[in-house]
Amino acid sequence: MDSSRVLGPPMAEPMTPLDVKVEANRCLNCYDAPCIAACPTSIDIPRFIRRIAAGDLAGSARTIMEANPMGASCARVCPTDELCEGACVYAPDNSPIRIGQLQQHATDWLIADGRLLFKPGPATGMRVAVVGGGPAGLSAARDLAVMGHAVTIFERDDLAGGLNTYGIVPFRLPVDVAVWEAEQVRRLGVDIQTGVNVGTDLPAEKLLADYDAVVIAFGMGKVPKLAIPGEDADGVWDALDFIRTAKMDGVVPGLGDTVAVIGGGNTAIDAATASKRLGANSVTMFYRRGPDRMTAYDFEIEFAKTEAVEFRFNVLPHRIIATDGRVTGLELIRTDPAGTARPIPGSEYVIPVDNVIPAIGQSKFAALLDAFGVVHEHGVVVVDADMRTNKPGVFAAGDCMFRAGASDAMVVEAAERGKTAARSVDGFLRKGAR
Ligand SMILES: Cc1cc2nc3c(=O)[nH]c(=O)nc-3n(C[C@H](O)[C@H](O)[C@H](O)COP(=O)(O)OP(=O)(O)OC[C@H]3O[C@@H](n4cnc5c(N)ncnc54)[C@H](O)[C@@H]3O)c2cc1C
Ligand code: SF4
Repeated sequence: MDSSRVLGPPMAEPMTPLDVKVEANRCLNCYDAPCIAACPTSIDIPRFIRRIAAGDLAGSARTIMEANPMGASCARVCPTDELCEGACVYAPDNSPIRIGQLQQHATDWLIADGRLLFKPGPATGMRVAVVGGGPAGLSAARDLAVMGHAVTIFERDDLAGGLNTYGIVPFRLPVDVAVWEAEQVRRLGVDIQTGVNVGTDLPAEKLLADYDAVVIAFGMGKVPKLAIPGEDADGVWDALDFIRTAKMDGVVPGLGDTVAVIGGGNTAIDAATASKRLGANSVTMFYRRGPDRMTAYDFEIEFAKTEAVEFRFNVLPHRIIATDGRVTGLELIRTDPAGTARPIPGSEYVIPVDNVIPAIGQSKFAALLDAFGVVHEHGVVVVDADMRTNKPGVFAAGDCMFRAGASDAMVVEAAERGKTAARSVDGFLRKGAR
């Protein structure tokens, strides 16, 4: 089902042709363009904009997709005000070039056109396994195929695309855009085997033995438990399961009128806004620290406010109250307003709710990293700047190497790390290091 329609209009409507023309012609083609430096994938932004202005949408889309195999999804989901648009020379006047929307214009044209922009390189006879078909795995696979290697992606889900397909709300990123990007990679001859859970259906040891190199790109796992009483009641949803159900089915069974979302990041915002759009009357986000410590992007927070999501700060969930096995209330405890998140004894209070949606981060796949024999820190794989793990022939990219505070877990970062991993794999294989 096309849940993008069920869950309402996109956050940003596509530009009109006149808007596109005016906007593209505003770009100054800056020498030393700061927007390029601010793009993690270094898209030549003035060049793609120039091509739009000249009416060459194929050339524009090629410039984008060459640098960023996730160029269509990034056009929609990148926090552009913190990246390219934030660096644009017009930004101090609050009128940066609308780079994201121009990028969407060019990539939408490409999707509608249906052409394949790239072709596989001359075969090297080398075989590479990629574990996980999200943005990092697909980007690595795209470049490895162009370099001539035979690539197989093992993806445990039914569709490739990772969080682009299942995790980001459809009014920001429709499923069909994520699936189109994966399809571009498959059309280069990459064998995308879906429904294969590496570690369960296919042991890590077998991949290590059967392939010349392996790229680990399996992202992160479920939302961790809150570890409070009552968490198993009906009406409690892991935020990622909740968004996935909303996105794929357009409806969430048992969604009531009053929803409490726990967390202050982008996942919490997505769960809250999706709840609203699915018809919940009152949706409140509860965060353990103050507003200044929220990790969600400012534009996401502003969007949630326009969707009438409410915020409560300096509170922690303490107990979920259930009647006949179903959530009916949430006990909260206030935390130290100084921002330490330390609970204040005796400050507990109860509110009536129909659903509780924890969105407090994602767990890590430590055991699977052990099975690959790579060094990790609490499930975060350790890599050097070239995405090499400690084990020769094994590389990693994307959220599985994401360390909180080091950078943001973003699609564009996953794409860039996937490209870097591909370059390193290629160097390793061509040196005959195996
Ligand atoms: C709710 C939410 C909203 C977000 N919104 C944004 C946004 O607006 N903008 C932005 O830039 N970023 C956003 N992000 C972050 C972004 O989605 C991630 O940084 C990006 O998807 C990471 O790509 P990845 O390929 O490393 O991991 P993933 O996208 O998680 O892909 C990993 C893939 O590996 C597969 N896999 C896992 N284990 C196995 C296994 N054992 N065997 C085989 N396959 C396996 C998974 O099924 C999945 O397909 C959001 C994240 C979330 C959770
Ligand atoms: S900084 Fe702005 S004006 Fe300059 S090249 Fe980039 S998008 Fe164009």
